[in-house]
Amino acid sequence: MSDATETYRVLGIGLGIGEPESALVERALAAAGLGPGELRGFRISRKSLDARRSGGSRRLRFVVHVDLVVTKGHRSPAFDRALRAGRVVRAPASGSLVVSNRHETVSVARVAVVGSGPAGLFAALALALSGAEVDLFERGPSLRERGRALARFDRTRVPDPERNLLFGEGGAGTYSDGKLYTRVDDPLEIPILEALVACGAPTEILYDARAHIGTDRLHRILPRLRERLEAEGVRLHFGVRVDGWTVRGETPARVVSLRTPAGEAPCDAVVLAPGHSARDTWRALARDGLVVEPKPFQLGVRVEHPQRLVDVDRHGTGPEAALLGPASYSLLCRSDGGTPATYSFCMCPGGQIVASVSRPEFLCTNGMSNSRHSSPFANAAIVTTLGPREFGTGAFDGVALQERIEQAAFEAGGSDYTAPAQRVPDFLAAREGVGPLRTSYRFGVRPGRVDRLLPDLVRSALVRALVRFDHSIPGFAGPEAVMVGVETRSSGPVRLPRDRETFRAAGFANVFPCGEGAGWAGGIMSAAIDGARAAQALLRFGIGGASPTSPERTRVRRAD
Ligand SMILES: Cc1cc2nc3c(=O)[nH]c(=O)nc-3n(C[C@H](O)[C@H](O)[C@H](O)COP(=O)(O)OP(=O)(O)OC[C@H]3O[C@@H](n4cnc5c(N)ncnc54)[C@H](O)[C@@H]3O)c2cc1C
Repeated sequence: MSDATETYRVLGIGLGIGEPESALVERALAAAGLGPGELRGFRISRKSLDARRSGGSRRLRFVVHVDLVVTKGHRSPAFDRALRAGRVVRAPASGSLVVSNRHETVSVARVAVVGSGPAGLFAALALALSGAEVDLFERGPSLRERGRALARFDRTRVPDPERNLLFGEGGAGTYSDGKLYTRVDDPLEIPILEALVACGAPTEILYDARAHIGTDRLHRILPRLRERLEAEGVRLHFGVRVDGWTVRGETPARVVSLRTPAGEAPCDAVVLAPGHSARDTWRALARDGLVVEPKPFQLGVRVEHPQRLVDVDRHGTGPEAALLGPASYSLLCRSDGGTPATYSFCMCPGGQIVASVSRPEFLCTNGMSNSRHSSPFANAAIVTTLGPREFGTGAFDGVALQERIEQAAFEAGGSDYTAPAQRVPDFLAAREGVGPLRTSYRFGVRPGRVDRLLPDLVRSALVRALVRFDHSIPGFAGPEAVMVGVETRSSGPVRLPRDRETFRAAGFANVFPCGEGAGWAGGIMSAAIDGARAAQALLRFGIGGASPTSPERTRVRRAD
C-alpha cells in the first residue's frame, strides 16, 4: 500500500461453492458503496467454508473477507453508510519481521538459536533480517537425512533418539498436516505467511481459514527457507545438541557459551526454542539454573473414522460436495464442572496416524497428511486438559505422567510400536474389543484396552464427549470409529517463565525462551509467531541488566 492509499476490509461476502473468485470484486464494491473507478487494489484476506445446517440440511457456501485499497481520504455517503453499518472496517496493519531500531547491545551480538522448528526458524530469520549474527543449533539432522532415518524406523522399528519425527530440520511439524492457521491474531502472521509463500507455499495460505498444506509441500518449502536463511547469513548447525550452558554472574545470570558434544559454542544471547519433546534439554538446563514450571497440557487419544463418514455429514452428498476436498471438523464438549472440557484437535482429513516417537520404548500418536489428503481415513486427537492440580506441582510432574502413559502404551501394543487400539463403542462400554481393526497407522494396531491407559478423569471426560460428538456427527462413536492410543504430546507440559515485554527468561539477562517447548505457543504458526516475537524483543530491548519484573501470563491459544 502506498502513502496515497488506504485499505478497508469488507466483511462476510458470500460466494457459491463453484463460483469464480472474480465475482467477489463486484460484490465487495457494492457492499462498500464504491465504484470500480475508486479501486486501487484488491485481495482476499480470509475465506472460510460455511457448512451450517439450515432446516435439517447443510447449505454450503464460502464466506469471504476482502481488502479493498482506495485513495486515501476517499469518502462518499454510500461508503460512510457501509462503515457505520460495520460491513466495512479499516484493515489491520500488517507487521514486519524486521526491527529497524535495534538496541545497541545487539549490534555486535552473536545470537545462538536452539531448535529449527517454526519458532527457531522464524526467530533466526527475524534476527538475521535485522542484522544480527546468528548460529542456529539443531540436534536433529537436515531434511534428507531425517527422511532416511524415518524410513529406517519404518523398516526396523528401532527409533533413533536424535533423528525422528520430532527432532530435525523444521521441527515437529515437518511430518504433519501442515495446518497453517492459528487463533492468535498477530500482525506478524502475514509477514510469516508471505515468507512461506516466497519459499513456494501456495498463495491461498494467506487467506484460507483452514489452510492445510501437507507434508509433501512442507518438504519443498523447507529447503528454500533454509537457503533464504543462509543467504541472510544464518549459520545452521545440524546434528548439534545443546546439553547445557556456561553462565557468568548471578542477578541476572548471563549465558556466555552453550555446551554441545562438539565443544563449547560462545554466544552473547540465546533464543531457546527446543519444542515440546525436549525433555532431556529442559532437565539439563534446569540443572544449569533455568526456571522450569509445570503447565497444563492435553491428553487423550487419536480417533479415526472413514473419511466418507465425515464428508457425508459435513458436506452432504450433493454436487457441491464433489467440488470440495475432504471435510474436516472441530468439536467441543464443554466442562460440566466435574469433568473438564474435551475437544477434537489437530484434525487430519484424508490423513494417517503416525508414531510420534523420539525415544525408544515410548509410544505416542499424532496425525499427518499430504496435500492431496488422499487417504480414506480421517483422524483427530480427542483430548482434555490436565493441570498441576491433577498431576502434581513439581516442575517435571507433567513430563513424568506423559512418560508413564507412553511406556504403558508401548507395552500394550506389544513393545514393537504396534499401537493399542479399541473401537469407540468398546471404549464407551469399558470392554475388550475384538479385531481385526482397520486403521491408517503404519505399524499396525493391536486390539486392547486403550481406556485403561488413561487417567480416570481423562477417560470419563472422553466418554462424555464422544457421546456428544456422536450427536454432532452421527457415527462418530459408532462401530467404524477406532481409537488409537495415546496422544500425550499435543502440547508441552512445562513453561519457561519470561518477562512479558523483554521476553528474557526469569533470572537471565540474555536467554529468550519461545515456542511450544517454552510453553508460549502451540502449533506451527503460533510457534513461528512466538519465535519472531522473541527475536524482536531481543532486538528492541537488547541484552538486559535487570531481572524480569512482569512475568508473562497469557494463555496459549492453539490452532486445532
Ligand atoms: C505429527 C505432528 C503433526 C502436527 N501437525 C500440526 C499441524 O498440522 N498444524 C500445526 O499447527 N501444528 C502441528 N503440530 C504441532 C507443531 O508441529 C508444533 O506445535 C510446532 O512444531 C512447535 O514449534 P517449535 O518451534 O516450538 O518446536 P518444534 O517444532 O518441536 O522444534 C523444536 C526443535 O528443537 C530441536 N531441539 C530440541 N532440543 C534441542 C537441543 N537440546 N539442542 C538443539 N536442538 C534441539 C528439536 O530437534 C526440534 O527440531 C504437529 C506436531 C506433530 C508431531
